[in-house]
Amino acid sequence: MTRPERAKALTAAFARIYPRAHCELDFSNPLELLVATILSAQCTDKRVNLVTPALFKKYPTARAYAQAPPAELEKAIQSTGFFRSKAASLRAMAADLVALHGGKVPATMEALTALRGVGRKTANVVLGNAYGINDGVVVDTHVRRLSRRLGLTKQTDPVKIEADLMKLIPRAQWMLFSHWLIWHGRRRCMARRPDCPGCEVQHLCPSAFKAA
Ligand code: SF4
Repeated sequence: MTRPERAKALTAAFARIYPRAHCELDFSNPLELLVATILSAQCTDKRVNLVTPALFKKYPTARAYAQAPPAELEKAIQSTGFFRSKAASLRAMAADLVALHGGKVPATMEALTALRGVGRKTANVVLGNAYGINDGVVVDTHVRRLSRRLGLTKQTDPVKIEADLMKLIPRAQWMLFSHWLIWHGRRRCMARRPDCPGCEVQHLCPSAFKAA
């Protein structure tokens, strides 16, 4: 099976397996999703979702984050880990939003990645989930691991992995495809002990019973 054939078969299979795949971070507007995505680094979505209801209430605007006393913001996000650097990122990102975009979250890759603390992965999450724009493929730790195990790329650098996936997957499915790999990575193809015997795409996977 060639790589494009495998990508096509996986796309069809995942659509059947995970018909309701979606972003598992809770949010109600682009700013909330941007903040939640920054907090999700090295942290589970579940933990982020425990912190964000109170956080979003306390800081409803970019200006509120930009003006937040550092210690107060650090305390509010402490349980997500790396809270000092995350608080600094949030304040810097929010200050840029206020200075450059009147506090609004822009809807282009270029403008998003120009914000301090925002890289391609975060920008892709916001564009895909808050604005419905397929500008790229989100490459997080799950997408990185699964796209390699599933034989869709040999690369290790997220930007190069993303470029390979963009060539293989139809643009309309870029966001969905990353959700599918993230969902499969959490439920079946875990980093340490992938459940190959129970895996629904085992017949399409060149790493079946060999991974980890
Ligand atoms: S067969 Fe195993 S390695 Fe391949 S996707 Fe399934 S769980 Fe992951």
